[in-house]
Amino acid sequence: MIWYPYQQMKTMQPPIKIRRAEGVYLYPEDGSRLIDAVSSWWSTIHGYHNPVLDNAIRTQLDSFAHVMLGGLTHEPAERLSAKLQEWLPGDLNHCFFSDSGSVAVEVALKMALQYFMNQGDTQRTMVLALEHAYHGDTFKTMEVGDDEDYHFVLNAYGKSKYVVHIPTEIDVLEQAFAAYHDQLNCMIVEPLLQGAGGMRMYDVSFLKRARQLCDQYGVLLIFDEVATGFGRTGNRFVADLVLPDILVLGKALTGGYIGHAVTVANEKVYQGFYSDDPAHALMHGPTFMGNALACSVALKSIALFEDQNYLEKIKKIESVTRRELIGFTDPRIKEVRIMGGCSCIEVLDEKTLEGFKEFAYERGVFLRPFLRYLYTMVPYVMEEDELVQVLQVMKDWFRR
Ligand SMILES: *Cc1c(COP(=O)(O)O)cnc(C)c1O
Repeated sequence: MIWYPYQQMKTMQPPIKIRRAEGVYLYPEDGSRLIDAVSSWWSTIHGYHNPVLDNAIRTQLDSFAHVMLGGLTHEPAERLSAKLQEWLPGDLNHCFFSDSGSVAVEVALKMALQYFMNQGDTQRTMVLALEHAYHGDTFKTMEVGDDEDYHFVLNAYGKSKYVVHIPTEIDVLEQAFAAYHDQLNCMIVEPLLQGAGGMRMYDVSFLKRARQLCDQYGVLLIFDEVATGFGRTGNRFVADLVLPDILVLGKALTGGYIGHAVTVANEKVYQGFYSDDPAHALMHGPTFMGNALACSVALKSIALFEDQNYLEKIKKIESVTRRELIGFTDPRIKEVRIMGGCSCIEVLDEKTLEGFKEFAYERGVFLRPFLRYLYTMVPYVMEEDELVQVLQVMKDWFRR
C-alpha cells in the first residue's frame, strides 16, 4: 500500500483519486471537476496534459528514455545545459543535473563546502540560512531548513553547529557576517518568497545587501529557486535581480512532468573544481541525472515560457489576485500576501482552516492549506474567471 507524504496515516482523509487531468482541471473518479490552484506542488505551470509537452516526451521516447551521464552523454542534456547557460543571467554556466530539488540543494551545499576545501581551507564549515527556510527533506537540507513542523526528527541530534538561522532583517544579516564570516562557506536563501515555511515574502534590498556582504567576505551565495524559479515571484528568476554564485532550479523545470532539478554554478565556483587533481572533482552522480525524457520536456517547457509571454500572464494573475484579495479582512486573518503567481491568507489559528479542503472541493476547487496558510500557486495558463472562482471560494470560507 501507499505510504502518503506529510500525513498521519491513521487519521488522514482518503485522498482524491484522479482519473484524468487537462489544463487547469483535475477530473476525479467521482465524476467531479476541480480547478487545481496548487499546480501539483507548484510545478505544473502550463497545466496538465499539454500537447507540446506530451509530444516532447513521445518524440524522445522513439530514441531512448534514459542513458546515464557517467561516461555517456546525449543531445537532450547537452541542449538543455546550453539553453540554461544562454538563458540564465550572468555567468551561471555550469549545469549539474539531479532527480529532485532536495538533491540539487544537497549538491549546491556540497559544492560550496568543497569549493573551499579544494583551496585547502577547512575552516569554512558553516552555512548562513534563514529562519522559516525550507530547502527539502533530505538530511543536510533539513539541517539548513528551519521548520519544526517538517523536520522535528532532527531534534534527536541537538542544535547543529554548522548552521546559523537569521530573520530577513538587514541589521541581523550584518551582525551574522560580522560574527561568522571566516567560518561561512555559503549563505543559502529562497529568494523573495519562502514557500513551505509559510509563503513569507521579503524585500529585494535584503538580497542586495547579502550579495554585498558575500562579496566582501568571500562567501558563496546560493539561491534555492526550486519554488521561485520560472516566474513564480513575477520575475523570471529572482537571480535576474541579484546574481547568486549557485542557482538551484527544480519543480517547474520540466513543467511538472518528471522529477528533475539542476544546480547551476558560476564560473568562479566551477574554476574551484577545475584542476589536475582528481580529488578536486565533484563526487556526486544521481543515477537519473540528465534523464533524456526530463531534459526534452524541460526544453519545451522553457520554449513555451518564452514564446507565449508567460511573464505577462503572471502579471495578469497578480493583478487579478490583488483586485480580489486586497482589502479583504476578517478578525481571524493575520495577513494577506501576494507576489506574482502566489497568494497566501495567513490566519491566526490553524483551526480556522479545518475543513477548508472539503469546502473547496464541493465548490469545484482543489486547494490544500497547511498549518496557518491558505495559499494559491496557480498554473500560469489559468483564465481570469477560473482564478476569480478560486479566490471567491477562499473568501466565501470566511463569510459562511
Ligand atoms: C520543494 C522544494 C525543495 C525540494 O524539492 P524536491 O523536488 O521536493 O526534493 C527544495 N527547495 C525548495 C525551496 C522547495 O520549495
